[in-house]
Amino acid sequence: MAPVVRKQILVKGVVQGVGFRPHVYKLAAEYKLGGWVKNDASGVTIEAEGPRAAVEAFIKAVPARRPAAARVDSLVSRAVAPAGEKTFSITKSGGRAPAAAIIPADLALCADCRRELLAPADRRYLYPFTNCTNCGPRFTIVERVPYDRPYTTMAGFKMCPACRAEYADPLDRRFHAQPNACPVCGPSVRLEAGGKALAGPAALERTAELLIAGRIGALQSLGGFHLACRADDAAAVKKLRAAKRRPHKPFAVMAPSLAAARKLCVISPAEAAALAAPEAPVVMLRRRAGFTEPAPGLSRLGMMLPYTPLHAALFALLGRKGFAGPLVMTSGNFRDEPICKDGPDVKARLSGVAAFSLFHDRPIHNRCDDSVAYEAAGELRLARRARGYVPAAVKLPAVGPSVLACGADLKNTFCLTRGGEAFLSQHIGDLSEPLNQEFFRETLGNLRGLLKARPALTVHDLHPDYASTAIARSLPGRKLAVQHHAAHALSVAAEHGVTGPFLGVAFDGTGYGADGCIWGSEFLVFGGGTWRRAGHLKYFALPGGDIGALEIWRPALALVKDALGPDWRRRAGKLFSAIPAAKAATVERMLEAGLNCPQTSSMGRLFDAFSFISGVRTEATYEAQGPLELESLLPTRAAGAYKFGSRKVSGLLELDPAPAVRAAVADRNAGLKPGVISARLHAGLSAAASAAAVNLAREYGLKTVCLSGGVFQNRTLLELVTRKIGKAGLKVLSNRQVPASDGGLALGQAWYALKGYKPA
Ligand code: ZN
Ligand code: ZN
Ligand code: FE
Repeated sequence: MAPVVRKQILVKGVVQGVGFRPHVYKLAAEYKLGGWVKNDASGVTIEAEGPRAAVEAFIKAVPARRPAAARVDSLVSRAVAPAGEKTFSITKSGGRAPAAAIIPADLALCADCRRELLAPADRRYLYPFTNCTNCGPRFTIVERVPYDRPYTTMAGFKMCPACRAEYADPLDRRFHAQPNACPVCGPSVRLEAGGKALAGPAALERTAELLIAGRIGALQSLGGFHLACRADDAAAVKKLRAAKRRPHKPFAVMAPSLAAARKLCVISPAEAAALAAPEAPVVMLRRRAGFTEPAPGLSRLGMMLPYTPLHAALFALLGRKGFAGPLVMTSGNFRDEPICKDGPDVKARLSGVAAFSLFHDRPIHNRCDDSVAYEAAGELRLARRARGYVPAAVKLPAVGPSVLACGADLKNTFCLTRGGEAFLSQHIGDLSEPLNQEFFRETLGNLRGLLKARPALTVHDLHPDYASTAIARSLPGRKLAVQHHAAHALSVAAEHGVTGPFLGVAFDGTGYGADGCIWGSEFLVFGGGTWRRAGHLKYFALPGGDIGALEIWRPALALVKDALGPDWRRRAGKLFSAIPAAKAATVERMLEAGLNCPQTSSMGRLFDAFSFISGVRTEATYEAQGPLELESLLPTRAAGAYKFGSRKVSGLLELDPAPAVRAAVADRNAGLKPGVISARLHAGLSAAASAAAVNLAREYGLKTVCLSGGVFQNRTLLELVTRKIGKAGLKVLSNRQVPASDGGLALGQAWYALKGYKPA
């Protein structure tokens, strides 16, 4: 007889709500072990007893053969006294230890559940709330830890005997699937259209008919409402644009299947994998010709696949009724307000937009927008981190006290750290919108509760007037202000585990500078616990301040006037002819008097100016519209690159855009196409930025360069700069797990505080 041992095994990571205990149970049966497994507040605890070799093999198999949606961060085992247990069981959750357990993120409909959903003989045929341990709602329905049904918004639904049997059977796919439900016992849908109400399957049928007829509907989804309409119906999309007051801003679409998506877009293997992943983000894909309504002027289209059984059932019905195209599925909100999450919310805010509403009665506890991903420089990256990713942690390179970082005001997310992990909130949005400030506080309360985090320090942006700064100041305890671009660069360092010295290159639209100017093209040196500015784009005036992000001819006028000199009007030719003369004259006077003309090194505004100069547009209706359209003209075959000046001014490397501006104006006046100007700008800027980075890295003895800031979401720029700096033998890193934009800023703020950085 082999000697019997008993081991207690603690597993931490994403191990609850992902079928981990049934997995352990099945393994124990396979190795013929006795003992038990349970969820507790710190993860999963196992005791396993049997012959030594079998127990050892079992311990190896627990992480190695884990379920697809699980993540094992640590597994420790220790010997305990054998108890003579011959059978293995799954025991009740318990324990009051400090919560280290991680709530899983929401998981897209799995293949097994999809098959049942579409099988007419199945008891869950077209049932919009089917799920199992491999898929379904998680974060959006969780109220408290540990993740157990009574602590979710499914608490009010009592399982029928059939569901109860699945839930209790360790070998069933629905064993302890907390949101387990069926048409008999679970949530249901209700349609309200034109004063009439329908419930259940009839509601879904009618929803499909209304959508086919070109109506706009508010559909309650996983983390909030979508506004939906046929993506191929120009009139419906136009109406939606008018109602949302978004004349051009791209809308995401949902295609019925990957095959349908391929008809509209070119999809790489990595993009296809992202579309089909449990996170199921919106993926920015290269659009084939035509089908321009959802994203006018852009070469990319944000597309996702049905990720809930409700979506899958709806598309099945649409298909049966002869509609096989995609639907626009945009966030159910007004402009930049938070996404609506319940009936009263929709009635108050969306009744003027939606002709009908499809509600359900499984409450959304944590509202969570769709995530947005894109592939660039060979990696999948996130432009918006929300559903499917939150609340998964970003691993930090070191452990520290809990801190709260409040992010910035645009694309806001905040970050709570606990030990060596950083938890970013879902995308909250523009904090100048008061409803988003409420959303921030609501989410902070929820996430703090789930993580049981008590931050010792609150970090905020250096900008004194940011709403995020005001929120931070309203919270109790110690505060720390962190410069915007230092935080951008550190967001890369944090997610890549860079703890040594490095050069940060942060290009974005706007951030409060340490000198009170608006920074936005920054070369920053980090090392020895300090950071310093080593270079930047030469300051230019931003007449009227923030309005220049929409009236992009303003920064263009400032740059052109500066670059062409006193004779600029004549030399600019017809460049400003579309701008009313009185307006242009006012801006010129403002520039001459230095009135309301903050100085900026903003790369975003430089791109805006070039999109104006190239002839792409004169004004934008959403942030970065010009630059996105400019990038959409690529790849364009065009020789040449615009030159940037480069010199040292009181110890700082300064890139001067004047030569590039002069060359672009000349090209425009010579009748060259915007695509040529775009290609020459991208080539010239990437060369200038890379050379500056390489020179500064040599000067300061640095081997690593971290690229961040929203401008590096420009695929072409990121790829060119990464390649050029890499060629010089330096290591080049950029954001992957968190957005390069302000959506990832909070991670860098938190890491700044944990590392104790100070300005040099
Ligand atoms: Zn499933
Ligand atoms: Zn049931
Ligand atoms: Fe920024």
